[in-house]
Amino acid sequence: MTKTEKTEISRIANVIRTQDILRRHDFNFKKKFGQNFLTDHNILTKITATAELSDAVNVIEIGPGIGSLTQYLLEEAAEVMAFEIDKTLIPILDETLAEYDNFILVNTDILKVDLAAEIAKFKNPNLPIKVVANLPYYITTPILMHLIESKIPFAEFVVMMQKEVADRIAANPKTKAYGSLSIAVQYYMEAQVAFIVPRTVFIPAPNVDSAILKMTRREKPLVEVEDETWFFKIMHAGFVHRRKTLLNNMQAEFGKDAKSEIEKCLTQAEISPSVRAEALSIPEFAHLADALMPLKK
Ligand code: SAM
Repeated sequence: MTKTEKTEISRIANVIRTQDILRRHDFNFKKKFGQNFLTDHNILTKITATAELSDAVNVIEIGPGIGSLTQYLLEEAAEVMAFEIDKTLIPILDETLAEYDNFILVNTDILKVDLAAEIAKFKNPNLPIKVVANLPYYITTPILMHLIESKIPFAEFVVMMQKEVADRIAANPKTKAYGSLSIAVQYYMEAQVAFIVPRTVFIPAPNVDSAILKMTRREKPLVEVEDETWFFKIMHAGFVHRRKTLLNNMQAEFGKDAKSEIEKCLTQAEISPSVRAEALSIPEFAHLADALMPLKK
């Protein structure tokens, strides 16, 4: 069935149909799984448009719920593979999405699955893969980092999360929201907030507003560093105490005895010891990490 054949009212994502599905299946929301289901046609159309899908793109969805977003994805993408942790949702999805033959449902925790093995099950595993999801809020960051750091070359992420987390990921230096999460993501991806989603379009309504974040994978990481693990270690150490200077945070990491060596490295690299991590751009952090390499014992 194509998108134009479906009327708004026959979709899963409207309040009456959603309530009917939940009642018929005697479904109980599980707070521990971060379950807030979308019920707004306009928001779902906007999410799908932001993802720029076509029949030459495969989609991975995390947490299909009762299939509200999945239905829109199935109508635009070649295939959709959805990972759902809650086994009580499986018979519901079998019913709500029964008419689609391009749907692969996997009943598992996304953090525990062998992604490469699952992706090989797409009919055409060579198509670019986009991740499109309304993420469970309680584990947004672990899921994102798990997927971004996996060896799978996802082309793009269009994902819903708490607005505050989306702002932190997309933040620029010298802002309150900028921190280790901004750098960890922007090192691999270009990130921008696409639009804001009010809490009123979910059942049940969450306590916070949400945002759709669009992230596009860079061809190669934003900066070249001598040692990637070391770069992330220095970056995290820099942000441990946001109000402290770089010198203080590096001393906390390497011990008081390392003070003169840290100062020497910073001076040589022309980095002020009194600057704070939040003032450093990602290339400046890369420069800092390389400069501190002598401390790597
Ligand atoms: N996509 C649906 C929608 O937009 O209406 C539901 C989104 S709801 C915010 C999050 C979904 O993720 C729930 O269905 C929940 O059961 C599922 N979920 C939570 N933790 C998960 C995990 N670790 N792995 C896979 N799915 C998970």
